[in-house]
Amino acid sequence: MIDTHAHLFYLKNPLKDVIEKAKKAGVTHIINVAIDIKSGKQALKQAGQYPEFISATMGVHPCDVAGFSDFKTLKKELSTGKYVAVGEIGLDYYHMATSKEEQIACFKKQLDLAREFKLPAIIHSRESDDDMKAILREYQDVKKVLHCFSSSAEFALSVINKNTYFSFTGMITLAKRGKVINAIKQLPIEHIMIETDCPYMNPIGIKGDNEPANVSLILDKIAELKPVERIKLKQILEITSRKFFKLL
Ligand SMILES: [Zn+2]
Repeated sequence: MIDTHAHLFYLKNPLKDVIEKAKKAGVTHIINVAIDIKSGKQALKQAGQYPEFISATMGVHPCDVAGFSDFKTLKKELSTGKYVAVGEIGLDYYHMATSKEEQIACFKKQLDLAREFKLPAIIHSRESDDDMKAILREYQDVKKVLHCFSSSAEFALSVINKNTYFSFTGMITLAKRGKVINAIKQLPIEHIMIETDCPYMNPIGIKGDNEPANVSLILDKIAELKPVERIKLKQILEITSRKFFKLL
């Protein structure tokens, strides 16, 4: 299993313990996702300690784009070829840390960088379906994952193409039915990935910091919802994730 979205630089436990626990739980790789330039560099440093097991991304989260203008450094970092994706980037109209205009401008500039460097984009989208849909239409050629997907099947199916993927967190373990569950049921398995978004988004019953080891609980939940055996599902998700992030 690959945890396609973790913020290891936020975890309180020592990295060594987190990795050991994850390996024991069957995790084979972790994508360590930046929220700004500083955390991207931290993520890369952690990846350097476990090059076979951790990969880093670089990007500025929509809750951190207020006043952000250092695209020069962002571009320089991405040009090193050391990052496996641009992210996380996107729109967050729930927290609304800055205006829609500023969020959209920063999101598009980063999608331009993903396009330029032929990197996949990790997208955060909260209460922004309409603007997201319009922007994704302009970037159909960029490979992307809508992370912590929590919107409807209708929205998912309106934006899906061969370059568009959806990843699910522990949030789905809290629901028996509802729009996210329905979205999982309707999406093609080959367009699904799993993630913890740790230290956030604890699966049901997990106290304290969420960790990559818990990604198995999300696999369990998806296995309940899809007409495919857990072991087969695990294989498919692993292949999808490896291809998406171009991991060996
Ligand atoms: Zn995240």
